[in-house]
Amino acid sequence: MNSLNVSTAVTQNVRAPTLLLSLIVPFYNEEEAISAFFTSVIPILNQVAALDYEIVCINDGSTDATLDRLKEAAANNSRILIVDLSRNFGKEAALTAGLDHAKGAAIIPFDADLQDPPETIPLLIQKWQEGFDVVIAKRVERRSDTYLKRSSASLFYRVHNAISQIQIPENVGDFRLMSRPVVEALKQLPENHRFMKGLFAWVGFKTCTVEYSRQPRSAGKTKFSGWKLWNFAIEGITSFSTLPLRVWTYIGSVVALAAFFYAAFLIVRTLLHGVDVPGYASITTIVLFLGGIQLIGIGAVGEYVGRIYSETKRRPIYIVRTLYQSLSQSN
Ligand code: UDP
Ligand code: MG
Repeated sequence: MNSLNVSTAVTQNVRAPTLLLSLIVPFYNEEEAISAFFTSVIPILNQVAALDYEIVCINDGSTDATLDRLKEAAANNSRILIVDLSRNFGKEAALTAGLDHAKGAAIIPFDADLQDPPETIPLLIQKWQEGFDVVIAKRVERRSDTYLKRSSASLFYRVHNAISQIQIPENVGDFRLMSRPVVEALKQLPENHRFMKGLFAWVGFKTCTVEYSRQPRSAGKTKFSGWKLWNFAIEGITSFSTLPLRVWTYIGSVVALAAFFYAAFLIVRTLLHGVDVPGYASITTIVLFLGGIQLIGIGAVGEYVGRIYSETKRRPIYIVRTLYQSLSQSN
């Protein structure tokens, strides 16, 4: 039964003649994490006897010795491929580069810092062999992330899922297994602003979930500061919802209605009690409040216009400086 499902995936895609598993790993200044990464991942991949593997390493414009460390690793293992990008394009672009270069029948994006335990990989493969196209790895325990990160992430998912038609499962990162048809579907999505978690959810397919507990980083520091995370959240919301644009019609209507009733009240009061000159404080407050509301509205429109502008330029998502393949003849 397993081989039946797998062969269907393969025959649909002539690109994968043998059963190959591709691990896609973005590296941005991860020199300290590299040796631990290969030492723990390779034995596990070797254990998955039914599959051959390749590790597609994307060097996302690292400024430290990451590329040299990767080349050393590739010199000892012909299954390691290095896609060296011309600068830092960000994790989403690096993952896109990985998807474009991976040849596997099953593909797993994986972080270089071992926060996602490699022991989960065989579980993902097992579910894929049972016939699922997408096997999501869900974090059931993420005490290794700070309280602030966990609570802001949870707020993001709630807001995003409330206002978008595409639902992103909570506590799920990029770590998942995708079959070749899913990756081909992802490659058809033309946008330059690539919020991968949302795109993964958008393509759909037969999905199941396995659970794992998120580990602390093996070495080095997180590459996502608070400001980067905030922008990432805005990216996610603007990619999958137009509510922040449309909501201004309703806010405007409510404010206009309130102004209408207030005007009616003032007319009646003036008729009954005559003109009341004082009112400086209330006028200032109202004017400032409305000015603020209008600026927020313009800001929301600006977020989308900015994105339309950069999408219309149709620049490539990433540029490859060098592709290092078969640095080693051994395996
Ligand atoms: N990463 C990348 N480009 C970037 C930022 C991060 O390729 O601009 C990689 C990084 O090397 C790591 C993965 O993305 O392999 C996840 O990054 P990190 O562990 O810093 O994120 P966190 O786990 O803290 O969310
Ligand atoms: Mg990490």
